[in-house]
Amino acid sequence: MMADPSQTCDVLVVGGGNAALCAALTARRAGARVILLECAPQAFRGGNSRHTRDIRYMHARATEYVTGPYSEEEFWEDLVRVTGGETNQDLARLTIRESAGLADWMLANGVRWQRPLRGTLHLTRANLFMLGGGKAMMNAYYDTARKLGVLVAYETEARELRVRDGEFLSAAVRRGGETHEVRAKSVVVASGGFEANIPWLKEYWGDAAENFLIRGTKYNQGRMLKELLEHGAKPVGDPRGCHAVAIDARAPKFDGGIVTRLDCVPFGVVVNRDARRFYDEGEDFWPKRYAIWGGLVARQPDQIAYSVVDSKAMGRFMPSVYPPIEARSIAELAAALGLEPAPLVSTIDEFNRSVRPGTFDPGSLDDCRTEGLDPPKSHWALPIDRPPFYGYPLRPGITFTYLGVTVNERAQVMMHDERPAKNIFAAGEVMAGNILGRGYLAGFGLTIGSVFGRIAGREAARHALG
Ligand SMILES: Cc1cc2nc3c(=O)[nH]c(=O)nc-3n(C[C@H](O)[C@H](O)[C@H](O)COP(=O)(O)OP(=O)(O)OC[C@H]3O[C@@H](n4cnc5c(N)ncnc54)[C@H](O)[C@@H]3O)c2cc1C
Repeated sequence: MMADPSQTCDVLVVGGGNAALCAALTARRAGARVILLECAPQAFRGGNSRHTRDIRYMHARATEYVTGPYSEEEFWEDLVRVTGGETNQDLARLTIRESAGLADWMLANGVRWQRPLRGTLHLTRANLFMLGGGKAMMNAYYDTARKLGVLVAYETEARELRVRDGEFLSAAVRRGGETHEVRAKSVVVASGGFEANIPWLKEYWGDAAENFLIRGTKYNQGRMLKELLEHGAKPVGDPRGCHAVAIDARAPKFDGGIVTRLDCVPFGVVVNRDARRFYDEGEDFWPKRYAIWGGLVARQPDQIAYSVVDSKAMGRFMPSVYPPIEARSIAELAAALGLEPAPLVSTIDEFNRSVRPGTFDPGSLDDCRTEGLDPPKSHWALPIDRPPFYGYPLRPGITFTYLGVTVNERAQVMMHDERPAKNIFAAGEVMAGNILGRGYLAGFGLTIGSVFGRIAGREAARHALG
C-alpha cells in the first residue's frame, strides 16, 4: 500500500527497519492511525534489519530453537563485559527484561524460527535464529502492517522535523521530487545510524572513510539523527565510534551483508600493504576478536590488509563468498595480491621460524604460538608452508555507528535541558548508544530495536490518543 504522505495521522514513524515496524505495529494495535515513511524503494525496504539472522533474548529454559537458559544476570554480565560498563543500567535492564517477551511477540507478528546455523560464533544458547533471516522477518512485519492498516510510504524521505519547545509539529518529506508536509500527534524516529554517510564519517576518520565498505543499506544517511541533534536532543555515544569487522575487499560498497565477512584471520597471518604484520591474529577466540579487525584494518595505510593462509587452513573456517586468491608459492601469491614479493616472503619466513611446536586445537586457546616475534601470534600459530597458498584482501566493513540521541525508559527523546521531548520518540540504532556505549553483543541490535520499538509505539499512541 502506497500511502499519500500528505495525509494527517496520529503517529508518524520514520524508518522502515525492525525498530520502525515494531513501533508501527504496536501503535496501530493500540488504535492509532499510523503512517510509516521508508526512504528506500519497496525492494530494498527493511534497512540493516534485513541483513540480520538472530536475536538475543532472556529465557528460562531450552526450547526446540535454543540449547539452554539465558538469565537476566548472565545477559547483564555479558553486556557489562563488552561495553566496559558504558551503558545506562536502567535502560539496559529494561531491555533485557522486556526481551523475554519478544519470542512470542515476533511469532504473533509472523516471524518463524529455525534451529541455529553452524559456524555462527557460538550463539546457539542465547540467540534465536529467524527462519529466512532478517529479510523474511521484515517481509512478515510488512505483511502484518498491511493487514492491520498501517500506511506505508516507500521512496519517501523525511527531510526536516518541525519542532517547537520540544514538541513535534510536522515533518517535511520528499517523494518523487515533491515536498509534502506530514502532520502527526507524535513521531517515532527509527531511521538507523549514519554509517552510509561517508562525508559525515570523514569528519571523524578523515579520508580513510573513503575506503570503508558499508555492510548494510545505503539509505542510513543519519539525516533524522542530525535533525534531532540540531533541535536540541541530547547526544549519546562516541561520534567516532562504529562497529566494524574485516570483510572481503571485493565486497560492494553497500549492502554486502553477512556473507562478505571473513573468518580466516586466526588460521594464518594478516599483513598490510607493505607486507608487514600489525596485530596478534591469535590473541583470543575469534568470536571475541572479530569485531576489532575492522578498526585495525582502518588504521593501516590505504585501509587495506591481506589474510594469508596455506592449504592446512582450508575447511577450518566458514567458506568465503569470493574465492581466495591462490598460488603455488608465497612470492607468486604476493604478485597475485599486488604486493611486493620480497617483503611478503621475508614476513612469512620470519613468522615460520618463530613458530614453536604445540598441539593445534581451534577449540581451545592452544599452545601453538610464536616466540621472539613482534607482534606475536599467541595461539593457533602453524607454519605457513604447505602449498597452495591463499590470500584474501580485507577492508573495514562498517556495520553501524554509535552516535545517537538520549532517551528515557518511555523512549522519549531527551533534550539538552534534561527534559523529555513531549511527543518525540526514538527506537533502534538511532538510540542504541544509550545501552551499547561501545563493543557489541551479537543479536543485541535487534533486541534493543524491538524492545524500544514496542515501547516507542505504545507511548507514541498513548500520547496521540490520550
Ligand atoms: C550485515 C549485518 C548483519 C547484522 N546481523 C545482525 C544480527 O544477526 N542480529 C542483530 O541483532 N543485529 C544485526 N545487525 C545489526 C542490526 O542490523 C541493527 O542493529 C538493526 O537492524 C537496526 O535496526 P533499525 O530499525 O534501527 O535500523 P535499520 O534496520 O537500518 O532501518 C533504518 C531504516 O530507516 C530508513 N531511513 C533512514 N533515513 C530515513 C529518512 N530520512 N526517511 C525515511 N526513512 C529513512 C532506512 O531506509 C531503513 O529502512 C547486523 C547488521 C548488518 C549490517
